[in-house]
Amino acid sequence: MEMKEMEQYLKAIDEVKAAYRKDLTILTGLEVDYIEGYENETRAFLNEYGPHLEDSILSVHFLKGQRNWHCIDFSPDAFERAFKDIGGIRETYAKYYEQLRRSVHADLGDHKPGRIGHMSLIRKFHQLHPSPSDWVHMAKSLLPVIKQEKMTLDYNGAGYKKEHCREPYPPVSIAQEAYELGIPLVYGSDAHTASGLNAGRAAMKTGLIHNTD
Ligand SMILES: [Zn+2]
Repeated sequence: MEMKEMEQYLKAIDEVKAAYRKDLTILTGLEVDYIEGYENETRAFLNEYGPHLEDSILSVHFLKGQRNWHCIDFSPDAFERAFKDIGGIRETYAKYYEQLRRSVHADLGDHKPGRIGHMSLIRKFHQLHPSPSDWVHMAKSLLPVIKQEKMTLDYNGAGYKKEHCREPYPPVSIAQEAYELGIPLVYGSDAHTASGLNAGRAAMKTGLIHNTD
């Protein structure tokens, strides 16, 4: 989304809130990128728009390689360009989890999102480019950090619909461990269109999902 679209976005949500007031609770929200080196800009943005937000998610999509920035979930080709520039698949996973850790600790001000988004997005193309054998360890190491910072976790079904992924973000064993640590899991479909609503929900271990009512 471009900055100039922000006001229009907030206005559009206010309109649907009013139109569906009797039937649905609609929260104003954003998925906010954590991008290393842009913490000041992100904090300034949140200081300005945070007072309008009722729910938000903090996610990592961009990793810096030796030559370029890369959007790791855009396409299999983009992922391949990323790991070749970063120095291998394992290094890319390590970098992704390092950035997630930084995002959890980052000072993004009073309106910092309270929930970490799709914490295994790096697995989106794992059936084409297999994950390193220790990736689960990398992912699980993040959980105590999330717990310590009192954040919640997006339990995201969109991965089920991705042809090279076919699992939620994160997979059940990690979601189970998060649950046992007392980290609230909040279901998300990551729907970019109406047809994406409820992605994966039927197949997910819904007993782990935090009741947000
Ligand atoms: Zn995302």
